[in-house]
Amino acid sequence: MNKENYKKRKPRYNLKSEFHRRCDQLVNHSIYDPKTECWNWNGSTTGKGMWRYGALNVSFDELNIQRGIRSHRLSYMIFKGDIPKGMLVLHKCDNTLCCNPEHLFLGTQNDNMLDAQKKKRLPSHQGSKNANAKITEADVLEIRKLKKAKTSIPAIQKRFNLGRSTIWHIINRTTWNHIPEDI
Ligand SMILES: [Zn+2]
Repeated sequence: MNKENYKKRKPRYNLKSEFHRRCDQLVNHSIYDPKTECWNWNGSTTGKGMWRYGALNVSFDELNIQRGIRSHRLSYMIFKGDIPKGMLVLHKCDNTLCCNPEHLFLGTQNDNMLDAQKKKRLPSHQGSKNANAKITEADVLEIRKLKKAKTSIPAIQKRFNLGRSTIWHIINRTTWNHIPEDI
């Protein structure tokens, strides 16, 4: 989602002006990268290295938030919805400072560890050169799930825009073998 268009998108929570002010803050404190479409958080951060996240203080009675929150989690809550208890908000783009809601998905702590493993294995600058980097761990899980549900290979290919052999390698675990069967 282009930052300039964010206001056209209907936020899940359409509450008070304070809320919209925070939306603005979220967008104004991030720098849009047209190449990756990431919203790179440019405000305060918390954590170090690959665990570095955007941080801000918010107080929304309606959202039951009165504390510091990580910017990507706030983005998820604003644009996508509630974060169930115990769930983490993970990045498809492997960029922990990114707040683009379209790059965010829910996962467990286990998913987060897998994500971290992947980052160590594949430094981000290599990402675009590596064919596997087009696929996220969420995609791998989804592809394997679809195959189990007897979805045809051509249908999976079409959905993920991947070659037949790439799909088979994922299913047969000759690639992405570090991702367990069920998480
Ligand atoms: Zn991103």
